[in-house]
Amino acid sequence: MTKYIFVTGGVTSSLGKGIISASLAKLLQARGYRVTIQKFDPYINIDPGTLNPYEHGECYVTEDGAETDLDLGHYERFLNTPTSQANNITTGRIYQNVINKERAGDYLGKTVQVVPHITDEIKRNMRILGESGDYDIVITEIGGTVGDIESLPFVEAVRQFKWEEGANNAIVIHLTLVPYLAAAGELKTKPTQHSVKALLEYGIQPDILVCRTEHHISPDIRKKIALFCNVNVNAVIESIDASSIYSVPLLMMKEQLDKTVLSKLKLPTKNEPDMESWKDFLGRLKNPTADVKIGLVGKYVELPDAYKSITEAFIHAGAKNECKVRVEYIPSESIYDDNVKEKLGHLQGVLVAPGFGSRGIEGKITAIKYVRENEIPFFGICLGMQCAVIEYGRNVLGLTNANTTEIDENSKHPVINMMEEQKNITLKGGTMRLGAYPCDIKKGTKAFAAYGKQHITERHRHRYEFNSSYLKQYEDAGMTASGINPDSKLVEIIELKNHPFFVGGQFHPELKSTVANPHPLFVKFVAAAMERTKKKTN
Ligand code: GLN
Repeated sequence: MTKYIFVTGGVTSSLGKGIISASLAKLLQARGYRVTIQKFDPYINIDPGTLNPYEHGECYVTEDGAETDLDLGHYERFLNTPTSQANNITTGRIYQNVINKERAGDYLGKTVQVVPHITDEIKRNMRILGESGDYDIVITEIGGTVGDIESLPFVEAVRQFKWEEGANNAIVIHLTLVPYLAAAGELKTKPTQHSVKALLEYGIQPDILVCRTEHHISPDIRKKIALFCNVNVNAVIESIDASSIYSVPLLMMKEQLDKTVLSKLKLPTKNEPDMESWKDFLGRLKNPTADVKIGLVGKYVELPDAYKSITEAFIHAGAKNECKVRVEYIPSESIYDDNVKEKLGHLQGVLVAPGFGSRGIEGKITAIKYVRENEIPFFGICLGMQCAVIEYGRNVLGLTNANTTEIDENSKHPVINMMEEQKNITLKGGTMRLGAYPCDIKKGTKAFAAYGKQHITERHRHRYEFNSSYLKQYEDAGMTASGINPDSKLVEIIELKNHPFFVGGQFHPELKSTVANPHPLFVKFVAAAMERTKKKTN
């Protein structure tokens, strides 16, 4: 029988519910349990696919092509198991399902209401992964902060769910803040007390409190929180600020969060979590023997969350190479011919980011010309790869004004154009080429050296593609298509022969990089950046 853990948040947003959920899941997985995490988001968009990255950070794409919240990226990076559409549900999706059922006459003339119809639909979705039989434990993170109007139906659904499943089968972990008041020189428990009170008003007694704090919480304060919030003292868990999100599982292990959870769920605690490989990763992460600076050229760089998976993939690849990767975020619009050297000349590698629309695209192309000509390692992702194709077309093949039809519909040289299957699509949500597709890697290429195999799959999120009618011209001029989709024949990877590292992927490799499996292209890219440092110092 599947057990359920709900994670709610109080006091303020951004306390790191996603990281706490992922850390707990990691510890339970390391004890041998089959665990998954799902996130319920209170906003009305059907999914975050249509959201501007400035609104919501990166849109994370799953194997099955769902456009989801970036917390799912953390779940995958920590657990090394794929998530799916079922792992991310929004208010919009819940209402859409209910309204569709209403239109189909499923409610038999009844008045359709938030309680019970919306809450029932939420509970049905909360159970989908559990009922698959694939998991011993399902962790459900409730987005937003308790007390928000929009998260109310979710909180009510949790209350009902807990009542239906029974105390030993469903528990609630509430994440709160214990702020430090410098003037008073004290940690304050009142916000936690109030936030638990808010939960109690909705009929939920939390089982465990995870307290975010900048300072250690003394036994006295733990006791005070326990007494006033009606939980056991060992159910007050300190979550102190950490230098890396990857340290949090070990901090939670020290606090025995996993053990407390298991005893509440009446599950055996005999095996200690096996965190050896995780500790090995942390050791390499925290004791680098080299250092590189890599530029991330993109249009959303003011909000690093917009490139979350890329940043994390650099951390994984850095640890693998025992190298500290310093990512410098560079707005693509700020790059011109006359300042490109000053912007990029000091870097050991440049990654040109994914993106949509025309803003900043010429800056990306200028950056690519510079790194190509100066042999600085280059990695292009999705739009970044498309820009590399445009740059090579314009400056090497002499295709004047070569472009993507995303920017110039009437381009004389549409070296990137819209995919056939996309041409008649007018609706925006969930309509791109999304999710995992196979790719065949050509032997003897840099891509093959990275993957070490011929058949791979990678995840996609795009509407445009390399225009194959130009392929021969490109290959004759030294740009190789080193990865091809075996079914559609779409070009998935391009690279240059005569360059230390110049690789672009139409897919998003960052989405598949995990602590246990750093992505091979990122690993090779960082290695190439390290080589460049060596060459320069020699
Ligand atoms: N805008 C480009 C396309 O739709 C690239 C998308 C991306 O970078 N994810 O093809």
